[in-house]
Amino acid sequence: MIIQEQKPFDEILQSLEGEEKIFLVGCSLCATTCQVGGEDQLKEMEGKLKEKGKSITGWIVLDPACQAVEVKKKFRERKEEIEKADSILVMACGGGAQSVRENAERIKINKIVHPGVNTLFQGEIIRGGHFEERCSLCSECVLEQTGTICPLTRCTKGLLNGPCGGSSNGKCEVDPDRDCAWDLIYKRLKEIGQLEKMSEIREAKDYSKLMRPRKLILEGDKK
Ligand code: SF4
Ligand code: SF4
Repeated sequence: MIIQEQKPFDEILQSLEGEEKIFLVGCSLCATTCQVGGEDQLKEMEGKLKEKGKSITGWIVLDPACQAVEVKKKFRERKEEIEKADSILVMACGGGAQSVRENAERIKINKIVHPGVNTLFQGEIIRGGHFEERCSLCSECVLEQTGTICPLTRCTKGLLNGPCGGSSNGKCEVDPDRDCAWDLIYKRLKEIGQLEKMSEIREAKDYSKLMRPRKLILEGDKK
């Protein structure tokens, strides 16, 4: 799940300066779960923008916004409303906003696209609107060595070989409100009888695997 939050309304308004007619885009997956880009939020945004003198030529919740085929199909269907707009405001993650811009261009709809959302992290839904980061998408997973607790993400210093020595009562020295990841890893490894993994030296990560932009093409889709 890509965790995201709406940008401050004033910032959105500023980005729309000089534009009167806006088309709104949301996303049915992460943006809806994070309550930024579902039907309710688009209707709310429509109301707030109208109060500020904007007119909304239409809105759509893509299913999802990060899928090229979906953007092109729905934008073709709604072309008239989109063409009437000065710009498009995307209430979905940064990936969704870029997908909207790229795929609209591919079907010759060339509008300014504004992001209405800040993309925060890849997270777990703890409950309802409570999300926590668990994975930093490092491309080289070490969970096998760490009792399925990510040190890169959950240790405040991102230590691959911890603990740092500063934790107290299971809490992190940097922020006592957070659990020490290495304390959690130690307890988990002890519980599953794999404590020897604590003394294994984990090599520095191969950061070339993090070279961006990353890409994956499954075997059957290679040409
Ligand atoms: S090591 Fe951590 S950041 Fe890397 S893939 Fe595994 S869970 Fe994600
Ligand atoms: S106290 Fe624990 S979580 Fe905090 S920086 Fe040190 S090892 Fe990492």
